[in-house]
Amino acid sequence: MKFGGTSVADGYRIKNVASLIKGFYNGKNEIVAVVSALSGVTDELEEEAKRASDKGDAAEIDLFIKRLTKRHHDAVKEAIDDKEIAKTVIEGLDVEFNDLRKSLISISHLRELTDRSHSYISSFGERLLAPILSGAMRSMGLDSISLTGGEAGIVTNSNFKNARPLFDITNDNVKKRLLPLIKARKVPVVSGFIAVDKNGVITTLGRGGSDYTASIIGADINADEIWIWTDVDGVMTADPKIVPGARTLPVISYLEAMELSYFGAKVIHPKTIEPAIQKGISVRVKNTFNPMHPGTTIVKDHKEIKDVVKAVTIIRNVALVNVSGAGMAGTPGVAARVFTALAKADVNIMMISQGSSEANISIVVDEASLSKAINALQSEFREDVVKSIVHDKDVCTIAVVGAGMAGTPGVAGRVFSALGQAGANVRMISQGSSEVNISFVVDGKDVEKAVIALHDEFNLGAER
Ligand code: ASP
Ligand code: MG
Repeated sequence: MKFGGTSVADGYRIKNVASLIKGFYNGKNEIVAVVSALSGVTDELEEEAKRASDKGDAAEIDLFIKRLTKRHHDAVKEAIDDKEIAKTVIEGLDVEFNDLRKSLISISHLRELTDRSHSYISSFGERLLAPILSGAMRSMGLDSISLTGGEAGIVTNSNFKNARPLFDITNDNVKKRLLPLIKARKVPVVSGFIAVDKNGVITTLGRGGSDYTASIIGADINADEIWIWTDVDGVMTADPKIVPGARTLPVISYLEAMELSYFGAKVIHPKTIEPAIQKGISVRVKNTFNPMHPGTTIVKDHKEIKDVVKAVTIIRNVALVNVSGAGMAGTPGVAARVFTALAKADVNIMMISQGSSEANISIVVDEASLSKAINALQSEFREDVVKSIVHDKDVCTIAVVGAGMAGTPGVAGRVFSALGQAGANVRMISQGSSEVNISFVVDGKDVEKAVIALHDEFNLGAER
């Protein structure tokens, strides 16, 4: 079970998490808990590290440590009733604060922040939280022990800020470290997001990485299920702010989760659950604020023919770029030049389409990188086969997702007639050959009616 974000926002929430674990544990389950940092702490640590290297201001560091200490001490008092246990936990945390302070001061002297020290500083959020949750459980009478990611056995390469697990070593280690604890009826609480490299230096798995920790551990110990506890009931058929009848999906496939998360339904990042899914372990998204709700289960393969379409999702803040010129037709290499120019300018491309007339290529990019994209294309195609480069910022991408669409004729027909009837003008269309999603671009003003029309057309709000 992994707990993150607002589920561990303060001591009361941590206490609530401890009693959730206790409830599930008592019913004969064996549980490993993975936690992220108190909400917002990782951001604060990163900012403080940067400030220390930019400004070299030691007084500011002391204020920061004071604030962070208070917040965690308060959390201990809120989460842990047993005075003795609370005292021991606070003593442990104070060692960490001292260490953090010294590291920040060093950075402020050196005025230098390497990836390695950046990771070291940002690892503190998780290192401070795991002992609090573990203490809260002990205070409730559950035997528990807290471990850092490295202590739990996760070993990565030395790409400090975005480290990749060395799966073979990790697998062996995690089994050796955690299985005996589980056997001894202890609940290990592992700090997510952080690991060590082969030399024992702290690394981090990339922002949001504690889901990854949970999935690595779950896969290694052969868990029956991995539960990602968050603050929503699961993955929904559409954004409930737009479609009041939107509903939580009970089951989706890994492929569908992947498509949905690319399209803005950021409940879970597919990369982070891959180790578990590859082993056939299902991943369940559950809500700590509504624990009786079954949530959404993500499984390796899942096709329900009657549900060809599962969800409709939106990406906002995108821009459409259209590159055209009659001379593009039949000229090899134009597409390559378009994409190379954009890649060199570090522009991420979200959608691509070219008609068979070959006279234009349409691309969707993040609105934030639009000017970079336009500049790159203009300088690449000065006086060339490309005659016009136009863009439109007031657009949104909508994706209709469902694994059952593959091989089912008529879905695209239904999608576009529903849009036509709703009066939503479609600017660009693309469907990958996996057929798991149909995506298209509409004008910003049409996005709500488009989503409502599609949700209706496929009757996504109806209970299954
Ligand atoms: N605390 C880390 C972050 O904010 C990891 C996580 O939350 O999963 O990115
Ligand atoms: Mg986080």
